[in-house]
Formats: sequence, C-alpha cells, structure tokens
Amino acid sequence: QAVREAAMLTHPAMTADGVRIAVLINVAEPAELDRIDPAICDGIGLVRTEFLFSSASGLPDEMAQYTAYRRILEWAGEKPVTIRTVDAGGDKPVPGLTIDGESNPFLGTRGIRLSLAKPEIFKVQLRALARAAQHGNLKIMLPMITIPEEIDEAAALLDEAVVELAREGIAASRPPLGIMVEVPAVAIVPERFSAAAFFSIGSNDLTQYTTASARDIAAVAGLNDPGHPAVIELIRNTVQTGRELGIDVSLCGDMGGDPRHLPSLIVAGLRAVSVAPPLVGRVKLALSEIHAGVPA
Ligand code: PEP
Ligand code: MG
Repeated sequence: QAVREAAMLTHPAMTADGVRIAVLINVAEPAELDRIDPAICDGIGLVRTEFLFSSASGLPDEMAQYTAYRRILEWAGEKPVTIRTVDAGGDKPVPGLTIDGESNPFLGTRGIRLSLAKPEIFKVQLRALARAAQHGNLKIMLPMITIPEEIDEAAALLDEAVVELAREGIAASRPPLGIMVEVPAVAIVPERFSAAAFFSIGSNDLTQYTTASARDIAAVAGLNDPGHPAVIELIRNTVQTGRELGIDVSLCGDMGGDPRHLPSLIVAGLRAVSVAPPLVGRVKLALSEIHAGVPA
C-alpha cells in the first residue's frame, strides 16, 4: 500500500475511468513546505493564516505577513495558492483579537465576521496579500461567509487596500476573491453568492453546522459525520450550482482526505480537493480506484 501510494505522488490524480481530479494541499504553517516537493500537488488549496496571529508578541504587522505569504507563493511557483484571511474565533481563539465570553463561539464573531468588525486589522492582512500577489498565482479566500454582503464589504476593503498601495508607490495587485462554503445558509442557496470568484467547501464546519454537533465535542462525534446525506446533498448542490454559474468549486475540509468519502464526493461532481500533505499519496491512490461514471 505505502509503495503504491508513493508511486502515485508526483503523478496527476485520475479516476479509474480517466477523469482528472486536482489534488492540492492544505498548509497551516509555512515551515511545513520545506519538507514537501511541489511536484506532488496541483497547488495549495488552503493556507490557514491563524499561525501568524498566535504569537505572544501581538498581531503581525504588514511586513511580517507579506514576508510569510511571499515565501509560500514562491514555493508554489506558477501553481495556484489560496490564502484564507484569518479565521479567528470558534475553535481558534486569538488573544487580543477574538471576543471573550461569547456563550457559543462557533455561532459568534468568528472568521469574516470578526475581520469586518475590525477593519483596521483586516486591512493590514489585505494589504499584505495584495503585495504578495506580485510573487505568484494568489487567490484570497474568506472564511465563514453567511450573506453576500460580507463578500461586497471585503471586496471594497481589498479594492481600497490596492488603491492605497498604488498611491504609495508600492507594487501590488488585486487577486480574485473567493469564499469558503461552510455555513449551510450558503450551501443551500449558493446562487446568491455569485460575486465569489470561487467556492471552497469547508466540510468540517459544514458538517458541524448541518448536524448541530460540534467538531470538538467527543460525545457527539458519532453525529458529526460528513457522510450524512444532508451534508452530501449540500455539497452536491454547491458543486452543481458552481458549475451552472461557471464558478470553480473545490473542497478543503478533512473529508477530502478520507478514502471512505471520496467516492460520494466524486459522484457529487467534485473535481478538486485540498488535503493535508501527508495524505496526498493515499488520496491519489483512492481516486485511481473510483469510477466517476461520466459518459465518455
Ligand atoms: C473547514 O471548515 O472544513 C475548513 C477547511 O476550515 P477549518 O477546518 O480551518 O475551519
Ligand atoms: Mg472552517
């Protein structure tokens, strides 16, 4: 098994009936990349930027963020890199940023909600990203989107950041802005979110919000099942709507790295997954045994 997985690593993923599936990687900490050959993946589908915000020395400034993002983009070369704006709150509290004492942090001020509540902090991240975009194929992703207006507000702040940088004579560009689909209110009516440049399904949160079972409470782990038909239906709906609207759809939650769930994702029409780097070989091998079942 391990030998077969290793043999697949640097080859593009393909189903048994010849359908090409993009396999990208999730990155939580740029130092991980030093041990990974870019040839094993089609790009980076998710950079969780919380690592920058967890230092005891306070929130990262623009230069610290720019340097970190640039390093990741340079590692990837021409391949696409999706960097997610900070998803603080919920299971990821950040001292000095997140709001303490909320009765249910998973339903509180997390992700894009927190960023839009603190635009002066969000703007620093957007400026750093617009600058880093000069060094590769960058896309920006917004976590925990719930209503279309959140995309509009974030887009306006990104546009402002780009204009400011130009005025200051600092090289920058405006990357495409896409969203995580991880709140059922999005996955049920994805057509309302056509302002997004792409959809990336966050199955970890989509599962917890759909099944009303927290991702970090062991007693309800049995209910927290991404294979629940309701979760699969939301994924199918998101993939199909994306296809109709011409919006690329991928999935970056943990179920994409689990061979038990890959057949239902492929049958649902999904053609791109982003997984933890150690799972790439296993995922490519599992995909090679799945029939996508599309007519030739
Ligand atoms: C998800 O929710 O599936 C996801 C990829 O994001 P995170 O696990 O960082 O919340
Ligand atoms: Mg999430």
